[in-house]
Amino acid sequence: MAPKLERFVSPGKGNGLRATTRIQCGELVLSAEPLACCVSNKLARDVCHHCFTRCKTLLRCSQCKMARYCNIICQKQAWACHKRECKCLQRLLPRIPTDSVRLAARLIFALLSPPTDHSEELYTLEEHESHLSSMSEQKKQGLSQLASMLELYLKQETPYLVQEMPPSCREPLSLIAKVTCNCFTISDEELQEIGVGLYPSLSLLNHDCRPNCVMVFEGPKLKLRAVRDINPEEELTISYIETLSLTEDRQKQLEDQYHFTCHCQQCDTRDKDGLMVLGEEAAWHQLKEALPRLEGLKAESNWQALLKSCSHLLSTVGSNVPDENLYKLRMTDMALDASIYQGHWEEAMRYGEKTLPVYRQYFPDPHPVHGLQLMRIGKLKHHLEYIEDALDLFKQSYQIIKLTHGHDHSLTTDLLMKMDECRSEMDQHSSSTH
Ligand SMILES: [Zn+2]
Ligand SMILES: [Zn+2]
Ligand SMILES: [Zn+2]
Repeated sequence: MAPKLERFVSPGKGNGLRATTRIQCGELVLSAEPLACCVSNKLARDVCHHCFTRCKTLLRCSQCKMARYCNIICQKQAWACHKRECKCLQRLLPRIPTDSVRLAARLIFALLSPPTDHSEELYTLEEHESHLSSMSEQKKQGLSQLASMLELYLKQETPYLVQEMPPSCREPLSLIAKVTCNCFTISDEELQEIGVGLYPSLSLLNHDCRPNCVMVFEGPKLKLRAVRDINPEEELTISYIETLSLTEDRQKQLEDQYHFTCHCQQCDTRDKDGLMVLGEEAAWHQLKEALPRLEGLKAESNWQALLKSCSHLLSTVGSNVPDENLYKLRMTDMALDASIYQGHWEEAMRYGEKTLPVYRQYFPDPHPVHGLQLMRIGKLKHHLEYIEDALDLFKQSYQIIKLTHGHDHSLTTDLLMKMDECRSEMDQHSSSTH
C-alpha cells in the first residue's frame, strides 16, 4: 500500500507531514509501532509491560520485580526489550527511575539491538530537536537531573553506548531533551494515560488546536486517523495538548512544553473563547479557583469528598453560570466521575446529560473524548432502563467512534452490541405490553 503521507517543509513551522492523496474523514492514515515505549511508573502494577493491557493479576519479573506481564507469552516476547533494562533496574533497587529516563534507556537499547525496519522512518533520532537552546534555565536544570539519573541507571551498560550510539545520541542531556520533547503519551480505551512511547516519523506531525487527524492507541500501537476530509498536499496535524481550554492557556502550555507559538486558525480567531467564559465573572471565578483543590481530591480518589464539594458548588454559585462555561463544565465532569465511583447512577446521569450539548459545541469534528462521553452516559441510561435514550446515545457515539477508532476497534464493536441489546429489549417490552 502506497503511503498516504510524505515529509515536507511546512511554511513557518519547519518539518511536517502532508497528504499525498485525498483522505476521507475516518480513514486510517498510518499505523505505527513504537521505536521504544514503556508503561508509566504509576501504572506499573496494573498494566502488562508488553501488550499494555490492564489486568488484575500480572506475572512479575522475578529479577527486577518491576516488570509485569499478563502471561508467560507476553513475558517471553518482552525479554529481548527487557533484558538489559532488567539488569539496570536491579542495580538501582528499590529506586525506580522516572518514565522519561526509562524510555530514554529503552530507546538506547532499541538502537543497539540489530536493526529491524527503522530505516523506513521518515525522521531519524539525529534530526529530532532537543530545544535546549530555547529552554529556560529551570527546565534545563530539571533535564540535567534526569540526564544524571540516566547515566547512573545505565552505568553497567555504558561502555557499549559510547562506542555504538550515533554521535548525536551519546550526550545524555541532549538525548533526554529529545525524548521529553518528542514522546507521545500512550492512553487506554478510556483515554487514561498508561505509558509513553517514541514514534519517530510521527514526531513530524505539527500541532493545530483544531487538527485534521487524531491518534488512538491499541496497546502500544499508534493509529492515526483523519477526522475531516483532507486534500492532497494538505498538511496533516494533531493536537499536542487537551484542546478544551482558552487560547491564552493553550498557547502558554505549547510554549512551555513544546517551545513554539501557535498561529493556528483557532488561536487567531479565538473562536471558542467567548463561549468558554460565558456567565458572570465573579461567579465562575469561584468555580475556577476551586478546581485545583478538587483535582487534588480526584488524584487521591477521594470520591466522597469530591462529590460533596462539586455538588455543593454547582448547586450554589454554579447555578448562575451557564453550562457552556469551561470551569463549570470541568466541575460537572468531575461530579460525573465522582458519582459513578460512588455508585450514584441517577445523579451521574443528571451531571452527564448536562455536559452533552456542551461537548457537541466544543467538538465540531469527531473526537474520541466526545464519543466516549456519549458512550458513558448511554451506559448509565441503559443501566437505569431508559432504553430509548440509551439507544440514541449509543448511535451518536457510534457515529463518532467508527471514525476516530475505525470499524474493527473493540469499542466500535461494543457499541454495535449495545445498540442490538437496546433494540431487543425494546422489542421484548413492546411485545409484552400487547
Ligand atoms: Zn500482555
Ligand atoms: Zn526484569
Ligand atoms: Zn492554536
